[in-house]
Amino acid sequence: MADRPPSQNNLEGKVAIITGGASGIGEATARHFANHGVRAIVIADIQAEKGQLVAESIGLHRCRYILCDVTDEQQVKALVESTVQAYGQLDVMFCNAGIMSVGMQDVLDFDLSAYDTLFAINVRGVAASVKHAARAMVEGKVKGSIICTASVSASTGSDKFIDYVMSKMAVLGLVKSASRQLGAYGIRVNSVSPGAVATPLLCDKFQMSATEVENNFEQYMSLKGAGPMKEKDVADAVLFLASDNSKFVTGHNLIVDGGYPY
Ligand code: NAD
Repeated sequence: MADRPPSQNNLEGKVAIITGGASGIGEATARHFANHGVRAIVIADIQAEKGQLVAESIGLHRCRYILCDVTDEQQVKALVESTVQAYGQLDVMFCNAGIMSVGMQDVLDFDLSAYDTLFAINVRGVAASVKHAARAMVEGKVKGSIICTASVSASTGSDKFIDYVMSKMAVLGLVKSASRQLGAYGIRVNSVSPGAVATPLLCDKFQMSATEVENNFEQYMSLKGAGPMKEKDVADAVLFLASDNSKFVTGHNLIVDGGYPY
């Protein structure tokens, strides 16, 4: 059988939603998808001004911003329905919206209302996104790809951010189970687990510049000389999982961290 020719248009004809697409990894992935032939991208985020600017810079002929708070299931349902209505189908769902712990979450001093807020976004929001994307794919008979953003911290644990680690481990559980349940429909479900990338999530958390964050975290990588990890390095992994190049990959957690010691 002939090999598939290498293509820059791995997402040709596909329609994608990216939650948390107004900033950081989600924004970089939206731009990366656009550079790889995606037919349409919907950016779903609570940051209206930034989301609209990203959509405009990609081009409103194939990118639109929709205000969506992933903690509200009805908003997630409406996001998916309006995407299918506008573009006919949903092929790729990147469930990426997330936040970091508020303060330092230590088990002896665990702020459980901050935990509730974080879980509403990082876990419930991802679950709602997977649910409604999967329903649209099953209904539309689309053999789609769902990708969730977990974190390397789900493998390492943390001495500071217990609720964040718990939330990302929950995402891995969701991906494992959903991949088994949706395989019958030809739908793949995977996660990407970034190491440290100097997005607003980390820079705001540590009150550091992007360069300071990069210098601080580079020491933990066993891979040397590759430079600091950027949003695009994660977007490359998401693109692989979104495209047919990964057509036999499901239930997988793709760690992109330059080799953290576990
Ligand atoms: P970011 O802050 O740049 O982007 C996160 C986006 O999510 C923002 O645009 C924000 O407005 C959006 N968001 C937050 N709450 C939302 C809600 N309720 N509904 C819709 N959108 C919402 O940060 P990022 O680093 O790009 O984070 C993206 C994902 O990557 C997160 O899930 C994060 O946990 C994960 N992650 C990041 C790193 C890192 O080092 N930056 C490492 C591992 C995992």
